[in-house]
Amino acid sequence: MSWLTEFVRPKIRTLFARREVPDNLWHQCPACQQMIFHRDLLANLRVCTHCGHHMRVGAVERLAFTFDEGSYTRIELPKVVADPLRFRDTKRYTDRLKEARDKTRLDDAIVVAHGKINGHQAVVAAMEFEFIGGSMGAAVGEGFLAAARLAVLQEAPLIAFTASGGARMMEGAISLMQMPRTVIATRLVKEAGLPYIVVMTDPTTGGVTASFPMLGDIHIAEPGALIGFAGPRVIEQTVREKLPEGFQRAEYLHEHGILDMVVKRTEMAGTLARLISLLRVRDLAEAA
Ligand SMILES: [Zn+2]
Repeated sequence: MSWLTEFVRPKIRTLFARREVPDNLWHQCPACQQMIFHRDLLANLRVCTHCGHHMRVGAVERLAFTFDEGSYTRIELPKVVADPLRFRDTKRYTDRLKEARDKTRLDDAIVVAHGKINGHQAVVAAMEFEFIGGSMGAAVGEGFLAAARLAVLQEAPLIAFTASGGARMMEGAISLMQMPRTVIATRLVKEAGLPYIVVMTDPTTGGVTASFPMLGDIHIAEPGALIGFAGPRVIEQTVREKLPEGFQRAEYLHEHGILDMVVKRTEMAGTLARLISLLRVRDLAEAA
């Protein structure tokens, strides 16, 4: 160890480290390029205070934004066989899982919690896009099934926040099997006569769109969210037509009847609570 490595290098590092602080305090909106103070952005639930652009939100933060006073109880999700196909592309699947776990501090791309939304008991399943693109493997399938079972057990409505690139390629056919599995899960909730509400967030695509998100009693999306099955390029090449402007965005899908409403994040919890009370009033009336 010389004077150079022991003293000069740490000094240089501190100089660089200091620069990182202001970076964390300010966020640049990807839509309007304006700078937003971190605290203001959080207070506005990660919606740009200048242009209203809805930035992506992680699963855990989503729970905090949805439940009263950010208070909820997360449930432990069933463990699944890790890497059933011993898959490897440019990296081992087990390495990808480890990286995703370190990055997100989650076991997989879904979290399930229960708590109250404006005083109404509810079960929420939220997907995490940062975990291998929110892809659905066996763990996500099991997680969603656990959420449905919990809703039935608690006689509470089930709310799903989706954010996914689709199937988890590294689990091959096992990933595809989660489509019928999650469909069955939605039937459990339906058979129990409980509301099942889906909130599609940016992006909700592929095999996930083609399963449990399209089976809700009510379909909501956040403004500007990309929602679709195949990508626009694949569709253009297949139908040999230019796709209309804003195709596969929440607003377009709302106009064309795929979605029931497009709701701002700041109004989401209130809207969910209102829907739950409306659907449950009908339940009570039917029971009487
Ligand atoms: Zn903006």
